[in-house]
Amino acid sequence: MTSDGAPPGVRRSASGRIPQWAIDEALGAAEDPAPWRSGPAFPPQPPRQDSPPPWIPRPRGKRHGGKRHGRKWAIAAGIALLACLYSVPAVFERFVLPAVLPYLPGTPVPPPGFEASGTPLGHAPGSTGSRAYSLQESPDPGQPFAAYDPCRPVHYVVRPDNAPPGAGQLVEQAVAKVSAATGLRFVYDGFTSEAPSDERESYQPDRYGKRWAPVLIAWSTPAESPDLAGDVDGLGGSGYAYTTGQPYVLVAGQVALDAPDFAEMLQWPDGPHHARAVIMHELAHVVGLDHVEDPTQLMNPEGTDVTEFAAGDLAGLAVLGGGQCVPEL
Ligand SMILES: [Zn+2]
Repeated sequence: MTSDGAPPGVRRSASGRIPQWAIDEALGAAEDPAPWRSGPAFPPQPPRQDSPPPWIPRPRGKRHGGKRHGRKWAIAAGIALLACLYSVPAVFERFVLPAVLPYLPGTPVPPPGFEASGTPLGHAPGSTGSRAYSLQESPDPGQPFAAYDPCRPVHYVVRPDNAPPGAGQLVEQAVAKVSAATGLRFVYDGFTSEAPSDERESYQPDRYGKRWAPVLIAWSTPAESPDLAGDVDGLGGSGYAYTTGQPYVLVAGQVALDAPDFAEMLQWPDGPHHARAVIMHELAHVVGLDHVEDPTQLMNPEGTDVTEFAAGDLAGLAVLGGGQCVPEL
C-alpha cells in the first residue's frame, strides 16, 4: 500500500518486471504487474529486464514426462544405459532420463504426484463478476494462466527470525483469507531456518523431503533481502514446474517481509490490519495474481487504505483456484 493518504507505511510498490510466475515489485516494470508488494509511493522504474529478476525462482522445476519405476529398475537402467548417452543421446534423453531422473542423487525434481488427489481438495467460491484483476503472465502463450495444483495441499513454512510481535497470527489470518478466496488448501509445516533468496531451489530434498519445497514466508530485512530496501514492505512470487504435455504449475513460492517496516506499521492505528493486508497482497502474488490500477483493490501496487480483498481481487483469486491438477509433476 502506498503511504499517500493512508497511514504512512503500507506501501505496495509500483509493479516490477515480472515473468509470469514470480514477481518483484521492487524492480518495477509497468508492463507486468509484479508480485512483490513494496514501495516508495513510486520507486523509479528500472528498464524492463529480459532475464528473471531477483527472487524469481529459475525454472528448475522443469521435468520430462515418463512413467514411474522402482528404484532398482532405475539404478539398473541408469547404469546399463549410460552408453546411450554417447551412442543414442536422443533415446537417452527422451525415454531413459525421464524415468530415472527422479531417483538419482542430486536430481532437480521430486518424484511426481506427491500427495496428489484425484479431485481438487477445495472449491473456489463463485466469481464476484468483477474484472478488476490481472493474472500473472503465463509462461506458455497457449495457457491462460499458471496456478497451483488444486488437487494437493500448498505447504508453507515460516522463517521466524526478526518477526514482530503477533506475526504468527497475522500470517495465519492472511493464509486463511487466500485459502478461502482460492479454495486451495494450505498446510502449515512449522518453522524453518531457510533464508529467502532469489536463487531459491524449488526442490530441496535434504531440507524438506522429496517433494516441491513449501512456500517460504520469511521475516527479513533490507540487509538480507536488498530488494526490500526503501519503501518496499514485501516481495512474493512462485516458481513453476512443467512436464511434457501438461500445463505449467506454480510450485515453491516465497514471501519476504520487511520486518523493520512491519514493526513500524504495527504502531499505527489499525496497524495489524494494514500489516495483514501486506501479507495477503504478497500471498496473492504467490498464487498468481498480478497488480491492477484500480485503487479500490488490494492488488493495487500504489498502496491504498484497502485492507481486505475486494471484488476484483476475489474474482482473480477464484480463477487461480481453478487450475488444472497435474499429478505427473
Ligand atoms: Zn505487489
